[in-house]
Amino acid sequence: MIPQFNPDDLLSVNQLLTEKRKIVITTHHKPDGDALGSSLGLKHYLDLKGHEVTVVTPSEYPDFLAWMKGSEEVIDYIKSTKLANEAFAKAEIVFCLDFNDPKRVERLQNLLNGFQGVKILMDHHLDPVSFCNYTFSFPKSCATSEIIFHFIVACGDRNLLDQNIASCLYAGLITDTGSFRFDSVSADTHEVVAQLLTTGIKHSLIHDYIYDSYSEARLHFMGFCLKDKLVVHQEFHTAHIAVTRAEMDMYKHQAGDLEGIVNFALSIKGIKMAALFSERDGIVKISFRSKGNFSVKELAEQNFEGGGHKNAAGGRSALSLKDTVKKFDDLLPLYKNKLEVG
Ligand code: 5GP
Ligand code: MN
Repeated sequence: MIPQFNPDDLLSVNQLLTEKRKIVITTHHKPDGDALGSSLGLKHYLDLKGHEVTVVTPSEYPDFLAWMKGSEEVIDYIKSTKLANEAFAKAEIVFCLDFNDPKRVERLQNLLNGFQGVKILMDHHLDPVSFCNYTFSFPKSCATSEIIFHFIVACGDRNLLDQNIASCLYAGLITDTGSFRFDSVSADTHEVVAQLLTTGIKHSLIHDYIYDSYSEARLHFMGFCLKDKLVVHQEFHTAHIAVTRAEMDMYKHQAGDLEGIVNFALSIKGIKMAALFSERDGIVKISFRSKGNFSVKELAEQNFEGGGHKNAAGGRSALSLKDTVKKFDDLLPLYKNKLEVG
């Protein structure tokens, strides 16, 4: 889907960028491939335009993204709070990528809300909260990285697209589309990819970095989740996996190790919804996935203080892991009909 940028807003943003600016790019908590890929892709573009750009993430990114150029300079707010504060203090513009609500930056919220300069949102989640001076929200786009590509083109800078930008955006596209399989993928997505590939990026290497770089411990952890933790409720076309902090520690859990595990639960024939529950920092974090029309976004919003997309959403619960799973299981009869037709 080619995003239609509001011409007045695009013009204003372009005018802002005609002078060399101090810019922060930030993204959501627990940055994934699209969050980091779109942020670094935009950074490389703005660097080429001569701006001074710092990427600040609310928490660390997974190891399998550390190959991205510029990732080593990313400031993790939790690890380097002082540096993050300094970057925000001197910034004139903050780009907010791949999230639609300031709550999604978790501990970075005070810094973001207190920022006095210009805030620019670029995102593909539904129903953005109004917290930025410019909101470029395109829920039909499959990834924020796709929007960044079109932004560069809309700014008249297609000629600046190079391997540094393209490899980061490509990573965002494959991770947010399940390697181009989700409904959100359009003919335009493939056209964007074709253009990224013309820069000479090694796409198969990027797939290797992201999907074939598991630690042995992570693979054992996956095996454990599938063998001992998978619960299937055929009647409700639902499957879930719940892991405790102790179990994660037992398998030397690293950021990103849970990524993708929920998809295994969804890969069972007849299953329309999958959930992954994990204990994090005193709460239970939940990842939801669904197939077809069943909206996990709604389920997450209505019951687990969360949100996301129709087929991929997240949420949280202050209950214990056991009680959270019970709450989820108790909800299933209410959604039975929707799960059947969905
Ligand atoms: P994941 O399960 O991979 O963490 O997240 C899946 C999708 O749901 C992503 O698009 C993410 O942005 C969104 N999401 C995850 N957790 C939350 C949350 O707590 N609140 C909201 N609003 N969205 C979330
Ligand atoms: Mn995204």
